Amino acid sequence: MAERSKAEPNRVTALSAGGPNAIAVTNGIVGDEWSLWIVQMALNNGITQYNEWLRAGPISSSVLTARLASLVEADVMERVPYNSRPQRYDYRLTQRGRQMWPILLTMWAWEQRWVNESDEHLPSMRHVRCGHLFAPQLICEACDRPTAARDVDGRFGPSGSWERSIPSAVTRRRAHSGARPLELVTQSMMLIGNRWSAALLGAAFLGATRFGEFEQRMGAPPTIVADRLRTFRDLGFLEQLPNPQRPDWVVYHLTAKGRDFFPVVASTIDWGQRWFVAPEGAALKLAHRECGRAFRPRLVCDQCGERLRGSSVQVVRGAAEQTGA
Ligand SMILES: [Zn+2]
Ligand SMILES: [Zn+2]
Repeated sequence: MAERSKAEPNRVTALSAGGPNAIAVTNGIVGDEWSLWIVQMALNNGITQYNEWLRAGPISSSVLTARLASLVEADVMERVPYNSRPQRYDYRLTQRGRQMWPILLTMWAWEQRWVNESDEHLPSMRHVRCGHLFAPQLICEACDRPTAARDVDGRFGPSGSWERSIPSAVTRRRAHSGARPLELVTQSMMLIGNRWSAALLGAAFLGATRFGEFEQRMGAPPTIVADRLRTFRDLGFLEQLPNPQRPDWVVYHLTAKGRDFFPVVASTIDWGQRWFVAPEGAALKLAHRECGRAFRPRLVCDQCGERLRGSSVQVVRGAAEQTGA
């Protein structure tokens, strides 16, 4: 995957022509809950050493070793020697690793809003600039207006196709060590932690509503499509309605909960396309309907309206006590 120069760790990764595009590569990273947890610990707790991750959560050394290697390969982290005898390394986030904060932030915000059982494990966020606990709000970079899924048109660019956007089964890394990270983003992982689920999610946001449309876009056998549609419906992410043309058939629509996942999708795609570049061009082109310009997601504080920066977001534990709520 990576053709990169070690001297320039912040350079973009050039993907191979005709191969997996930015969406597939990004889903391979972001769709792995242990990789996300490792990045989160580095971002929020400043963890840089192997043993610190082992102490921070129920991760096994084999899982940690494998995930750190893949994060280094993806240029999300770099190995920096800090001792020569014996040889020891720190793992530091690269610029692209540090820029993953909007993905984590939007995921947490969504889980806190829609998934009751996870909120006690999830940190709250304080906006340092205004001092308030906040939720991120998605806006359009070009016009500053709040933007929802329905305001954005998406279409494939030159490196985009369903085939090239779905991570291949062999490169997917699944977490099956038994133990799970404490700061769970449980439902997010049910949506993106599996190649077929991620494909279904993308198909739903790009307007698929009928079984045949999901089947065609996902390139999956009907039993898998049916299974994933059922899962998404059980999660309250899609609702099943009668097809207006054929009342004995059904269509699937995103619910409010489903549509509200859009900031996660937009932040993830934006990060991926910024750092993983196919020679043919973009995988996905997004346009903001209201202003007509290319849509780049940005996040603002819902309390003060100011644009968020990674450095102005503070993680707060025990939020209920701190707000006096
Ligand atoms: Zn706009
Ligand atoms: Zn604020």
